[in-house]
Amino acid sequence: MQIEEVNALQPVKIGFNFTKKNVIILAVAFLLVITGSILATYYGKPNKCSNNLQGKCENLVCSNPNLIQTWNTNCFSTLSTTTTKFRPTEISSTEFTTTFIPTPLNYRLPTNLKPTYYDLTIQPFFKANTEPFDYNGTVSIDFVCEQNTNQLVLHMKDLDVYNSTLTLSAINDTIFTTKKNFKWTYNNNTHFFVIDLERESFRANFSYRFSVKFKGYITNDQLGFYKSSYVNNNGQKKWLVTSQLEYIEARKSFICFDEPGFKALFKIRIIHDKSLDVMSNMPIVKQENLIEINDDYDWVLTEFKETVPMSTYLVAILISDFKCRDGLSQSSFSNVKVKVCSRPNALDQLDLALNSSMEFLSFFENYYQVSYPLEKLDHVGVPDFKFGAMENWGLAIYKEANFLFNDKSTQTTESNVVRVIAHEISHMWFGNLVTPKWWNDLWLNEGFARFAEYFGSNAIKKDWRMLDTFTDVLMNVIQSDSSDTTRPVSLDVNSPEEIEDNFNPTITYGKGSSIVKMLLYILGEDTFRNGIENYLKKYSYQNADQFDLWITLDKQAKNESKLLRVNFTDAMVTWTKQKGHPVVQIKKINSSHLSISQNRFILDSNVVQTTLREVLWYIPLTLSIEKIGSEGSSFTNQVDPSNLFDKVIWISPTKNEIILNLDQNMTNENFLIANLDMAVFCRINYDETNWKLISQQLLTNHQELSNRTRAQLISDVFSLAQALYFSPEIAFNHIKYLDKELDYLPWSVFLNRIKYFIDLLDTSFIYNKLQNLWTDRLVRNNLIQYACQIELEECTETAISYFHKYVTTADMNNFPSQLRIIILCVGIQYGTTKDFNFILNKAKNTSNDTTLKNDLLAGLSCSKEQHLLNRYLNDQINTSSVITAIRNVLKNPSGNSLAWQFIKNNWSYIYEK
Ligand SMILES: [Zn+2]
Repeated sequence: MQIEEVNALQPVKIGFNFTKKNVIILAVAFLLVITGSILATYYGKPNKCSNNLQGKCENLVCSNPNLIQTWNTNCFSTLSTTTTKFRPTEISSTEFTTTFIPTPLNYRLPTNLKPTYYDLTIQPFFKANTEPFDYNGTVSIDFVCEQNTNQLVLHMKDLDVYNSTLTLSAINDTIFTTKKNFKWTYNNNTHFFVIDLERESFRANFSYRFSVKFKGYITNDQLGFYKSSYVNNNGQKKWLVTSQLEYIEARKSFICFDEPGFKALFKIRIIHDKSLDVMSNMPIVKQENLIEINDDYDWVLTEFKETVPMSTYLVAILISDFKCRDGLSQSSFSNVKVKVCSRPNALDQLDLALNSSMEFLSFFENYYQVSYPLEKLDHVGVPDFKFGAMENWGLAIYKEANFLFNDKSTQTTESNVVRVIAHEISHMWFGNLVTPKWWNDLWLNEGFARFAEYFGSNAIKKDWRMLDTFTDVLMNVIQSDSSDTTRPVSLDVNSPEEIEDNFNPTITYGKGSSIVKMLLYILGEDTFRNGIENYLKKYSYQNADQFDLWITLDKQAKNESKLLRVNFTDAMVTWTKQKGHPVVQIKKINSSHLSISQNRFILDSNVVQTTLREVLWYIPLTLSIEKIGSEGSSFTNQVDPSNLFDKVIWISPTKNEIILNLDQNMTNENFLIANLDMAVFCRINYDETNWKLISQQLLTNHQELSNRTRAQLISDVFSLAQALYFSPEIAFNHIKYLDKELDYLPWSVFLNRIKYFIDLLDTSFIYNKLQNLWTDRLVRNNLIQYACQIELEECTETAISYFHKYVTTADMNNFPSQLRIIILCVGIQYGTTKDFNFILNKAKNTSNDTTLKNDLLAGLSCSKEQHLLNRYLNDQINTSSVITAIRNVLKNPSGNSLAWQFIKNNWSYIYEK
């Protein structure tokens, strides 16, 4: 699953110029932008069912009491809807247990019974022109007993059960008597649906079948089977039903064993109106018209091919009038039919998605040397989607903004679309084929997928420098991981809330991806690839945990006669199970000896040194000795991970310093660079002499060190200075070379690190350096954004001029699309109410171009007028854009308190969103 992080405005380049202003304001503007994100992140959540729903659902199944829908107890046979009740009469509330919550509550299913096969049919009541509210479902689950038990425990949430349809029978246990319409209990906290056998047991090695009919609700919370809509070119609203089942929403869609470890085959059928097309994980095998009476629907039964063994959270459906384009992904392993689908009026925005999805599928097949096992892989962009995208096996679903692309879209959108597709396709192996045993090792899914975003994109978009961007991302992640309150990558989780918190974009995704990068570098690329191939093949269609990965990789290294010289599992666990990261301190003792020590790095120097800092790591350190002024440094080009293995020195967890005997003598002209290409997620601190020599090298010829090394050094030197490891003067001396720096990456890292030191800087010095950067497009992009945000006249005047042309002519053809957000933002800031209304109307009437709509909405949030911001927020309350709208206004200093008030006033609604 792709989770979106809150981004500041990311406008850009071309044709803009600015002359002067001090950089203090620049950094302050930057700080204001991030303040909004922090506020949004840390605002607490109330208990989900605690407000107006509490009284109505605490002892019930928590169905939405606001939905009063039609229901006919015989609808499976008659397919007619005549009566109006919220809950089928067969259910009485006495059958639900009033829950007493012991602490700690066990949310895990017993493991005596294992599902093997689901036969699932759903029948949603809607047409393309009518809003969906509910569906009928039947599910039949075959399970095998592995250990005698007299209890069947399943998951269920927000579903209504037809008691008379409950059936429990044996598949091959001849002494088991079939049971119907039996009692069951329900726990509203664990979502456990429990059947106790009174006088019998399920017996080990025998199989059984549970089946039931139920009613489910199609809500607009973008979870489970949910509804969405769009407006077609004739102005008609069209409805669709799709799904998002990760992490625990399968239980909201059908009764099931809703844990990733319970893999099974799924036979899925959808009964739908003829006006709609349906898609699911697998190809369609059969369609037939159902002849029914007294009904407004033309029912069609569509049956899909049985799936491969997979977890419940990967089940997916789409019922819509969407249209598709297709292609064939060809590799040495397989030919897979690839489809990309969207609402019909966005079909012309699918070129990038189609081409990228075909390229990535064959790229990852070749890289992992494991074929994609299904016949087809569909990708669908839907208007409303809670996350960035979801990797359902055979049917990946995306938020439109991460999927559609046209010639007016920004470079950021293009890069997002490509990255997100790489992420989801990588999950077809890491997540779908091999799945974590439990959510504590979610990073095995998301760390690999985040790494694949950059690593995969770098392979197919060679001029995008995606590995540089990845370095930039990791610099931000390590910064966030430097607080004493950070958390481990692999964390024990139990409750739904803990599982949800584990979908942490910074640690689970970001730091998780840094561990994957570390594996690639310390093992060497060939060993890494071979080990991953073995791991994927060994655990195909099964579940694995991190220990399975470490053992497989260690075995591969040994097979290739690569001696790691440490217990690999022990070493890697220090990176996954411990929170934070180390700073390695390297001091020269004499010409041939170094002192190396480590402790946990925490940015806040006020945090006590004792317990927090006693955590230690196995650190695979790499070192290089360089000579001042010499050409041909090891770092002129990027580090080749294939050749790093022999350079790795393992530093064991010890509080005592290690004395390292060098194999060459260092003169006064030699300096050290450690942790090549940030192979390891840590900080490096050198002695003062070494820092001075590095600064001298940068001033003499900075290009002798690679751009990534230069960025890493800036990140380290400023973080260490902030944590009071040394005087800020060392950091300032280090950046004196920046007037020669023309690369995006060191500048990006510098601009992110500068804010803490802003009061200490000679700002005219920095400003003069910035002026020289116009040759680099990426640097310009950042600077133009900042220039307009700090209201530099040259920037704002140019933006206003573009804005006025647009408002006057309503023609965006001459609008530089890469700068669209910033132009709209500045135009609204300096514009009138009439201008605001113009853009607001444009946003309302833009349904076919999601990127443009988002840009227009982002621009509106820049108003300095409280009443306009208020109108903007209230205008979005009933739309799927409300969360984005609040984030946008939180970023606006004029809107902070207003957004807070809006959140408080509308909390229940926003939380449900
Ligand atoms: Zn993911």
